[in-house]
Order: sequence, then C-alpha cells, then structure tokens
Amino acid sequence: MMGDRDFRSIVKNAVDSIGRELEIEIDVKDIKTIHLKEVVQCLRRSYYDRVDPKEVERRGFNDLLSGMLRKLQYGSNPKEFAIDDIKLRGQADMMVDDSIILFRPTNTNLETPLANDLLYLNACMWIYDKTDGIIIYITGNKEEIMFSLTRDKKMFEEVIRRVRVLSDLLKEQKTPILEPSNDCTDCQYYQRCFITKKNTKQVSLSEMLGLSKD
Ligand code: SF4
Repeated sequence: MMGDRDFRSIVKNAVDSIGRELEIEIDVKDIKTIHLKEVVQCLRRSYYDRVDPKEVERRGFNDLLSGMLRKLQYGSNPKEFAIDDIKLRGQADMMVDDSIILFRPTNTNLETPLANDLLYLNACMWIYDKTDGIIIYITGNKEEIMFSLTRDKKMFEEVIRRVRVLSDLLKEQKTPILEPSNDCTDCQYYQRCFITKKNTKQVSLSEMLGLSKD
C-alpha cells in the first residue's frame, strides 16, 4: 500500500515538474531583456535567479494556475515595451475584449490586491496599450475575489525605474539590496539574505556578564 509520505512526494514531484514546464523562460545572459515578473518581485531574488539560481519550493497545484492559463488558448502572446535599449517583456494571463485579466491563488480573504500583482497588472496595461484590468484571486475554497484597476502612469514609471536598476546591476554584477517583505518567508534565498555563518565562539550569558560559574 502506498504510504502517506510516498503519496506526498509524488504530488510534490508532479507540482515541481509541471511548474518547471510553465515557468516563464528567461535567457539569463540577455540583460537587455528584462521580464515583468522579475521587476515586480524583490530585485535581489530576480538577480539570484539569473546568476546563482536555487529551485523554488512550490506549495501545490494552486500555484500553477496563472502559468497554465498563459499556456492555454486564452493566454495572450508575450509583448515587449522598449525602454531606451532595454526591452521589458510581459505576458497577461488572459485578454478579454479590451481588458487584461490576471489570475492569482490566495490562502486568505484579501481586502485589497497584493502590491506586486497591482504593479504587474498595471504594467501589462501599458505594454498591451489597454486601459482596464482585473485581478481575480482564487481561494483554496474555489471562491473568487475580484479587483479592477484603471491604468496609472506613476505606477508604471516605478516599474520602468526597476527595469533600469536590475539591468544595470546585472551588467555591473552587483547584488541588489535586500527588499524585506512578507515574501521573504517563502523565498528560496532566505538563508543567503538573513542567516550568516557564525564565526564567533558561543558565549554564555554569565560569561558576558563576567560572572564566575562557581
Ligand atoms: S529573502 Fe527577501 S530580500 Fe532576500 S531575495 Fe528573497 S525576497 Fe529578496
């Protein structure tokens, strides 16, 4: 009989291999093409993903949602936006009439959309030259939470600034600064960012206070 542990590892392997298939393909050497996904998340994470990657831990099939939609017939084709000599490349999950639609999984009852999803949606509206966009969050109970957005120039300018920063840092081979956020908890580079090797000898509290052990 198949044990619980075997079953879990089969599901995990399936999620990992489908996840790899659905990943947006990034040519790590092409620093003149920056992907929208890279600049709406922590730049340090995107930098590590290009120069010294570590596989991300996927939590379940829900995480594969937007990748699957992009691959299906509903998905729009990727499109590029020129920023001087750099190309910003984005892809919406779905386009219906003149609206961009993104699908994202969530485990909580969100009252407002997540900042990086807003940045992604807004940038897609500029890249595809559309004025309306919708983010649909799918909860673990298969409920939908929907937010709509009208495009905003200032928000897109922030994305453009981040595209330039990432491209420059990749060129100069400089690691971006930490961008601490809730995303750090699930980030595969957490240990690189926040846990450093201890070179110091462990000192007890009584030694620090100069108290004798006797
Ligand atoms: S742990 Fe946080 S700061 Fe470090 S790369 Fe990941 S998201 Fe960025």
